[in-house]
Amino acid sequence: MKYKSTRGGAEGSSFEDALFSGYASDGGLYVPEVLPVIPKELLSSWKTSPPSYQQVVLEVVKLFVGEDEIPLDVLETCINQAYKEFDTSKVIEIQDCKDANGSNYRVVELFHGKTKSFKDYALSLVGRLLQYFVSKRNSHATILVGTSGDTGSAAIEAVKGLKGLDIIVLYPKGKISEVQELQMISVTEDNVHVFATEGTSDDLDVPIKKSFPAPGLMSINSINWARIMIQIAHYVYLSTLEQLQPIDIYVPTGAAGNLSAGLLASLMGVPVNLYSATNLNDTVALLINKGKLAFGGTVLETYSNAMDIRHPYNCERVLYFLSDSQTVASIMKNEEEYESVIPVDLHEKLRKYIKGALKVDTPTTLETIRECWKLNKYMICPHTATAVAFCTQQNKEKVGETSKPKPYVIATASPEKFPDAAIAAELPSIDCNYNLANGLLQKLKSRERKEPKQMKKGENWFQILQAEISLVTPK
Ligand SMILES: *Cc1c(COP(=O)(O)O)cnc(C)c1O
Repeated sequence: MKYKSTRGGAEGSSFEDALFSGYASDGGLYVPEVLPVIPKELLSSWKTSPPSYQQVVLEVVKLFVGEDEIPLDVLETCINQAYKEFDTSKVIEIQDCKDANGSNYRVVELFHGKTKSFKDYALSLVGRLLQYFVSKRNSHATILVGTSGDTGSAAIEAVKGLKGLDIIVLYPKGKISEVQELQMISVTEDNVHVFATEGTSDDLDVPIKKSFPAPGLMSINSINWARIMIQIAHYVYLSTLEQLQPIDIYVPTGAAGNLSAGLLASLMGVPVNLYSATNLNDTVALLINKGKLAFGGTVLETYSNAMDIRHPYNCERVLYFLSDSQTVASIMKNEEEYESVIPVDLHEKLRKYIKGALKVDTPTTLETIRECWKLNKYMICPHTATAVAFCTQQNKEKVGETSKPKPYVIATASPEKFPDAAIAAELPSIDCNYNLANGLLQKLKSRERKEPKQMKKGENWFQILQAEISLVTPK
């Protein structure tokens, strides 16, 4: 399989090229030159004997990475090792819940990896793939990551201590939860370099974006194709749980990586109807509901900080897969701050796959956390709550339609990472015995720390970053 940019450049790139880069040289994102479909025979065999999560990952990745790049036995080993350290052998757990109208939904717990967000699912495998290539060619790569909360820690866990790899992470100081911060600054391996910056997650994307492309430098934010590719497996796996009947899936959305993976699953032959929930940062909801592309603007802080994003860069992939590189290049002409309307036919096509979107405000998010606890004695994180709120709203409109499979809601992180949201939702006052001063926070607090370096307001972040990159790059 060959890769190219969403804007038409970088044709003929290998998977390895796409894996070891960030943005393509024309500013676009890497995508496969042709989108494969999941073979019909495979789908029908899955109808009779549902596969494990690992099997689905293997079959999906095989479609995008040829044996010439990664031998099948190596790929299988990487996948088995990646998910071995998850805290459940099923890798994904599903929880049945009901809402205030008595409608049911199923929470898909994508938080059983080391850092307890869905980022672990793709990144733990990405780490193994990187290690394979770096050791094969005896070279070095520097990974550059900007994080609004969860990517940093998941990426650090995936590559800490690995030979031939250094990782530099920038996070917005004071805008992530204590658990998220401790997960990053309590890692002492020499190849991990963490910066606390005085800005928003979109601010710190600026010096990062300016650093690309550069030889030996790569991103494992969800601009990286490999993450999207691996995440396709979530949607395929869920579909196999329902014998590949069409299912509704509600997705908490930030940079739209998860959403693009869902779209790809659909385009590859697995029927999933997607619903996207955003917090107050509603760029993606505007695109889906109104066909309006308005990147940039002030990032609003919410409890669902991993979704506090105004540059949801994966929208570019969503638009690409529903049109072509010419259309995308013309929509994205105005690189930094753009506001435009996408073509009407493209918007209609988008709505065929992504059935709806909802911006969920903070009071509704907190109310949803509270209600879910009251009704189910089950705690959800504030990101998950946005999608539960959307699902609840849709269920209300669909009362009486019971023949379909129950809708699925993606839980993107464990509530343990966000005790502040639980307190704001007043869970302790409604008899929530969930340990808010929980084990996870206490455990992290007792770990040895490595204080982060700083990027202060007014300093030249790009320069600081360049200096760090050259420091870690072998001469
Ligand atoms: C990263 C993240 C999101 C947003 O996912 P995207 O793929 O960027 O849309 C949502 N919730 C949590 C907990 C996350 O860590």
